[in-house]
Amino acid sequence: MPICMRCHRSLKDPQSIDRGFGPHCWALIQQETTELFQGWDEYQTSDALSEKGIA
Ligand SMILES: [Zn+2]
Repeated sequence: MPICMRCHRSLKDPQSIDRGFGPHCWALIQQETTELFQGWDEYQTSDALSEKGIA
């Protein structure tokens, strides 16, 4: 039985099995990834770097 790689519940629909995550966890992962990329955009700007004392 395939399981979700995030919450380890069993996966039933082929799409979830293909992804390795259930629909709920997949939505959370996509949300986290979006936040990660938004954070990276901030990180790349020189203003953000100087605010953090990196540059
Ligand atoms: Zn899950």
